[in-house]
This record gives sequence, C-alpha cells and structure tokens, in this order.
Amino acid sequence: MAAFDVVIIGQGLAGTNLALHLQAAGQRVLVLDSGKPVTASKIAAGLMTPITGQRLTVSWRVDEFLPYARSFYGQIEDQSQRSFFHDRKAVRLFTKEAEQAVFEKRRADPKFCAHLSDEAVDALLPENVADTSGGGFSMKAAQLDVAAFLDAARGLLTVEQTTVDWHRDVFYDADAVSVLGHAARYVVSCEGYGAAANPYFGFVPFNGAKGDILTLRFDAPVPAYSLHRGMWLAPTEDPFVFRLGASYDWAQLDDVPDAAAGLVLEEKLKSFFHVPYEVINHEAAVRPIVKESKALIGFHPTHSQLGFFNALGSKGSLHGPWFAHLFCECLVTGSPVPAEFDVQQYAKPGDPA
Ligand SMILES: Cc1cc2nc3c(=O)[nH]c(=O)nc-3n(C[C@H](O)[C@H](O)[C@H](O)COP(=O)(O)OP(=O)(O)OC[C@H]3O[C@@H](n4cnc5c(N)ncnc54)[C@H](O)[C@@H]3O)c2cc1C
Repeated sequence: MAAFDVVIIGQGLAGTNLALHLQAAGQRVLVLDSGKPVTASKIAAGLMTPITGQRLTVSWRVDEFLPYARSFYGQIEDQSQRSFFHDRKAVRLFTKEAEQAVFEKRRADPKFCAHLSDEAVDALLPENVADTSGGGFSMKAAQLDVAAFLDAARGLLTVEQTTVDWHRDVFYDADAVSVLGHAARYVVSCEGYGAAANPYFGFVPFNGAKGDILTLRFDAPVPAYSLHRGMWLAPTEDPFVFRLGASYDWAQLDDVPDAAAGLVLEEKLKSFFHVPYEVINHEAAVRPIVKESKALIGFHPTHSQLGFFNALGSKGSLHGPWFAHLFCECLVTGSPVPAEFDVQQYAKPGDPA
C-alpha cells in the first residue's frame, strides 16, 4: 500500500488549503515545498474585499466564499492556537466623479448594500488624510495574515523542504505514483506560477501578473482597516506597519522588486495620505492567473494520478478554501470535477503527455 494518499507539491495558499482539507478528511498527506523565501502567498496582503474594481462590482460568489473562508480559517486557528483571520473593514475612496455615480446607481441593489458597513468614511480616516471630498464608502471585509497562516499550517502538516523536478523525481504507473521515493495514490501540483514550467500541465494558458508590494512604517499609528484608492494600504499586526500594494505587470514575470512600480504606488498614496513613513521592505512575485481569474482544479487528461490546483489569481485568500474543499471531494470521493473549473478544458488532443 502507498505510504501517502496524496503528495502535494507547493505549500502556498493552494497547497496549504488543499492539504488541510485532505487531512481533515482522513487522508495521509505529504507536502513538498521548495522553501523559497519570497512567493506570491508569502508576500500577499491577504485582503478579502467584497466590492472591487472601477465598476464597483460585487466580487464573484463572495457570499459563498467569504463565509466558507471565515469558518475554515477559524477552524485552523483553533487547531493551531494561532490568530491570522480578521474581520476588518475596508474603506474605498473614489478616484473620480464617475465612480461616485456608479456607487449611487449600485446602492439600489440590496445585494450590493449587504456588503456596506454603516460607518461614515470620514469617521474612519486618520487626520492626515486630505482630498477625500470625492467621498467613498466603507464595507465589511476581511484579511488573512497569509504568512502566519502558512506557518501555522506547517505545524499541522507533514512538510518536507525540497524542490521537485517533474522529469527526474516523478514516476507513475496505472495505479500509483511516486515522488522522490514517496509512493502515493495522487500527486497534485500546487506550484503557483511555477506550474507554467510543469511538463505535464504545459497546456494551461497562464497569464501571470507580477505584483510589487511595499512595507511601510508610519510615524504614527494608523487605524486597522484597509484603505483603497487606486492602490491599497493593508494593516499588519503592528499599528505602525502597513503594506502598500499592488502593481500589475503582465510582461516582466520575475520576482525582482521593480523600483519604478514602487514609486508609482508611493505617488498614489502620497496624493492624499499625509502620514510620514519610511519604506522598510519591497518585494515582488508573480500571481498565477488564467483567463477569467477562476481557479482550476482537476487531473491530467491521460495520467489521472497527476492532479492540479492553481490559478487563484489575485484572490488566493478568499477563493483558496472553497476550491480546496471542492477538489478534496473529487480526490476523496471521486466526484466529478465541474467543467467550468476543470483544468482539462485547456488540453488539446495531441498535447504531449
Ligand atoms: C504583491 C501581491 C499581493 C497580493 N495580495 C493579495 C491579497 O491581498 N489577497 C489575496 O487574496 N491574494 C493576493 N495576492 C494573490 C495571492 O498571492 C495568490 O492568489 C496566491 O498566493 C497563489 O497561491 P499559490 O499557492 O497558487 O502559489 P504560490 O504562492 O506561488 O505558491 C506555490 C508554492 O509552490 C512552491 N513550488 C513551486 N514549484 C515547486 C516545485 N517544483 N517543488 C517544490 N515546491 C515548489 C513555491 O516555492 C511556493 O511555495 C497577491 C499577490 C501578490 C504577488
């Protein structure tokens, strides 16, 4: 009998959420992760914001995803005796009149209003914020301290630090698979944008977006909610320290901090937020995005022991738990992968095995 039911490659938000769901379902799970110090998950701000974009749209299925995420992360907080999930307000300031007009229109929709918070924006902002005459609104949002969640999960899972070379380290036959000598029923790629180089899932049309993020230390404490105005400022556990993000670069897909992208973020902040600060860190990583920013799960078209969970895009914290639950069901009970999330939709006959 194989030593493990599932070997997961990658301990970012995808791999961690999946591993925790599988373990809770009684599966024997091994996670292999390269231990890279900077990854999309490790630097993410973990914001879960229900109303987003210039058109102020209610985030896709947020009414299902957010309660599920809250309940799941809460369980892991209990198990690990750590705290990393926070219900936190988000304040959105309008950047132009047109946004205000869109807001007025949207307010007629009870589904939109359900996400608004009662507090007036002015009451939430610190004193040194200028130019809020355009107005804005506050909403009920949440935030995951992603690095703390990943760290807490490592204490609950079996994780080995190693980088898997799929050509050299993965072997399979009809019934089983072995990764670096660990036999399992399935191996699942949760490699984030790294999966763009995976020889088995090369057919997935990744459209990665590099994101730069700064860490700022303010001279005075700032209230603990996220502030959005063409950029976002996200709280940390330290009331003086916030994350400022995040840029989108669809061309330069590496994790080298881009000074110009950092300056653009700072300019956007300084245009209205006048609390002095120093930049104490600048990081960058690539978000794994595929077309519609809906996650992909499923199995290789000809080697059904090879699984895939990826494409969490800009919403890994919010979407990760729900999709992990869905894929866990497929792996454990054999339930079919829903067509709209199935990685096989991108495979073409004749793709190399
Ligand atoms: C600047 C920035 C800010 C963001 N802010 C937010 C936010 O506020 N809210 C939000 O929800 N999302 C945010 N995101 C998006 C979020 O980070 C992603 O959705 C999520 O991290 C993707 O997780 P993942 O596990 O798929 O990939 P990754 O985080 O890339 O994890 C993949 C893991 O697999 C490992 N790995 C890869 N290949 C191998 C291999 N062959 N062998 C061993 N290990 C391997 C890597 O080392 C890594 O640990 C942000 C992203 C960026 C870049």
